Amino acid sequence: MNSSPLLSFEFFPPKTDQGKVNLATTRKELGKFSPEFFSVTYGAGGSTRSTTLDQVKAILADGYDVAPHISFGGSSEDEVLTLLNDYKAMGVKNLVALRGDLPSGMGGAGQLVHANQLVAFIRAKTGNHFNINVAAYPEIHPESESYSRDIFWLGEKFKAGANRAITQYFYNADGYFKFVEECAKAGIGAPIIPGIMPLTNYANLVRFSESCGADIPRWLRWQLKERSSNQEDLISYGIDIISELSQKLIDGGAPGLHFYTMNQWQVTDILCRNLGFSETV
Ligand code: FAD
Repeated sequence: MNSSPLLSFEFFPPKTDQGKVNLATTRKELGKFSPEFFSVTYGAGGSTRSTTLDQVKAILADGYDVAPHISFGGSSEDEVLTLLNDYKAMGVKNLVALRGDLPSGMGGAGQLVHANQLVAFIRAKTGNHFNINVAAYPEIHPESESYSRDIFWLGEKFKAGANRAITQYFYNADGYFKFVEECAKAGIGAPIIPGIMPLTNYANLVRFSESCGADIPRWLRWQLKERSSNQEDLISYGIDIISELSQKLIDGGAPGLHFYTMNQWQVTDILCRNLGFSETV
């Protein structure tokens, strides 16, 4: 393991009371690994504005650092500024700044503001208060014109003031290392933290990967498909695969790991233990 890679865990804002109770348990269990922060997703178009804020408050109340995701979506500059000022007043120090995707059916409701423009807006309005994370795509964003153009726009996010990037999930470590190498050639030296999606549900993974452009290698898809009717088998296989992938990333110099937890703690907990992260509280 390289020198203390950073850990962060991503949640989405729960919709139900039971979901909130479950997530409180997840925070407690994963909080034992002293993550750098818990991040909370934000529905572009402001659809989760209040639920994201509620979850941010709950994380802070538990004494953890938080990184709310933020995007313009269809919101005005005043609305985004109010949210930023609220976060600042609450003591939030980290953000994940994104363009986001408008929910289907909101196509004409607002123009998407690119992440580099959002980062510039945050810096102009709040100076250096926030540590700003942005998204990166080792397999390239599905709307990108080309591989090099996507890296160019990532560079623009850093020029605008971002501190580091968190990647879309992937199952090919070499693609990540190649991407980091190409970023370095393009002058990007900031940390690029791999996003890790545990393998827990075949159908959901296939559907989501198609929409976000993440590649499931053919061999892996077959292996998961074969186990799709036996959840226990699939999870156990997935833990082996993701432990191996994460270890390879850390051994190859990845500066940290960001887990897409889907609000569940059990599998992520096993993965962290397999990787040698220990409970610190
Ligand atoms: P951008 O950086 O703006 O890039 C989008 C596309 O436009 C790319 O193809 C890029 O090459 C190109 N581009 C970038 N800048 C410019 C420019 N100035 N002019 C022209 N083209 C440009 N979505 C949510 O809705 N809510 C979330 O909470 C959320 N969290 C995420 C967390 C992580 C770690 C990641 C990796 C993704 C997350 N997403 C989330 C998904 C993300 O919003 C989508 O992938 C979205 O399509 C792109 O967002 P972005 O910030 O990367 O956009």
